[in-house]
Amino acid sequence: VRSVKEGDTEVLVPIPEEGANFAPSAAPVFFNPVMEMNRDISIAATSAFLKRMEPDPEKTITYVDALSASGIRGLRVANEIGIETTLNDWSEDAYQLIQENIEKLGIADHTFATHKNANVLLHEKHFNIVDLDPFGTPAPFLAAAARSVIDLLEVTATDTAPLCGAHLNSGIRKYAAIPLNNEYHSEMGVRILLGRIARELSLHDKAMVPLLSHATRHYVRTYLQIRRGAKQADKMLKKMGFIAQCECGNREIVHGLAVHINDRCSLCGKENVISGPMWLGELHEPEFCDETIEELEQRNCGTKEMSIKMLEFCRDELSIPMFYDQHLLCKKLGVSASTIDTLITALKDNGYKASRTHFSGISFKTDAELPDIERIIVDIR
Ligand code: SAM
Repeated sequence: VRSVKEGDTEVLVPIPEEGANFAPSAAPVFFNPVMEMNRDISIAATSAFLKRMEPDPEKTITYVDALSASGIRGLRVANEIGIETTLNDWSEDAYQLIQENIEKLGIADHTFATHKNANVLLHEKHFNIVDLDPFGTPAPFLAAAARSVIDLLEVTATDTAPLCGAHLNSGIRKYAAIPLNNEYHSEMGVRILLGRIARELSLHDKAMVPLLSHATRHYVRTYLQIRRGAKQADKMLKKMGFIAQCECGNREIVHGLAVHINDRCSLCGKENVISGPMWLGELHEPEFCDETIEELEQRNCGTKEMSIKMLEFCRDELSIPMFYDQHLLCKKLGVSASTIDTLITALKDNGYKASRTHFSGISFKTDAELPDIERIIVDIR
């Protein structure tokens, strides 16, 4: 093992043997340095959430890192935030390393290691904050996490190919939904994951309010505030729905779970491709993005600038499902692209809402319909 420092926390992590496969998943205990940004944002978001909660100082707030590996994520929560933390992994090597890390950091008074199947642990106990950070898909853990969680559910998914429709059948099996792999596949992935989580929560008369959700090339990560009550769950499910997409570029967003969906495009009459069911509601709460940015500014973390930049994009993007890719539209229209800001200004000047998006630098979100977007793209050239 060797020592690495992330944030204010020094943790022992495995070094792969000389000449061995260097993939993080091939090590005896998993550690992926590329996920530092994910962890930096997690610490900031968890801390921002706790400040919002204004917990009773007499009450213990519990957090579980259900799939811990070296424990680096949960160890940072325990060390940098200080709440009661459980670190769990069913691998014997990981469990030993977690215990060693707890000892070394001197946080044994509020940090516990468990050595269980994560699903067993989550069915045994409720936690205020549940964090799922698995290899690939979180799908096998969502039922237990939805049952266990009280206040905040944090989920990573690294199976972007199934989520985004690149591995279609795998996505259908894991998420009980049909994703569409086109220009907005990254946003599709986030919405398919959130849709599956919403349906798991509703089983327990719980609802989610997305505080922050982001996609990078390698993973999706989301922070969901939990509300209790059947009425809240019913209200949440109204934000589920489908997208009917035509090859001409027109898309129709259809809210509801048992609804009529046009099989023909309302613009050109060609056959629509249907994807869903998925989450069509908000992906972020702008105030929460600001609170998380504030935390990042005040904390020691290696990815501060990059993380803040991304959260600013999240904060400022419109809450309208599915961005448009400017380059794709320009190619279809046979015109060259202008800067994304020029196009956004032109859309706004025409009375529409428009914003950039964290999903892609060449894309935008707007409430304008396709023919109006195309007219404006041609007009500004
Ligand atoms: N959260 C860690 C981090 O930030 O570095 C990475 C976790 S790693 C991707 C996934 C871990 O889950 C592995 O260490 C594996 O042993 C553990 N695991 C997989 N299935 C499990 C299960 N059903 N119960 C408990 N642990 C499990």
